[in-house]
Amino acid sequence: MKKYVIIGGGIAGVSCIEGIRSVDPDGEITLISAEPVSNYGRPLIS
Ligand SMILES: Cc1cc2nc3c(=O)[nH]c(=O)nc-3n(C[C@H](O)[C@H](O)[C@H](O)COP(=O)(O)OP(=O)(O)OC[C@H]3O[C@@H](n4cnc5c(N)ncnc54)[C@H](O)[C@@H]3O)c2cc1C
Repeated sequence: MKKYVIIGGGIAGVSCIEGIRSVDPDGEITLISAEPVSNYGRPLIS
């Protein structure tokens, strides 16, 4: 099983995870983010 580490929970990081999941349903994904809150899309703020 592959292991992935994604740094940054913005749209790039989340899109990367979606891309990985679309081809690897079993890989272990660790997301490291500096955000003090849960993931969110900044473009949606406005
Ligand atoms: C208020 C606002 C409105 C916007 N509206 C639009 C819009 O309408 N349309 C549009 O196209 N774009 C818009 N943008 C721009 C858009 O948000 C960015 O282009 C987009 O978020 C970039 O995505 P990203 O994942 O590359 O970076 P980011 O969204 O900046 O995500 C990077 C992530 O990495 C994390 N990070 C940073 N350093 C570290 C570290 N050392 N360790 C761990 N994690 C770290 C951050 O906490 C963050 O979660 C808007 C931006 C803002 C602020």
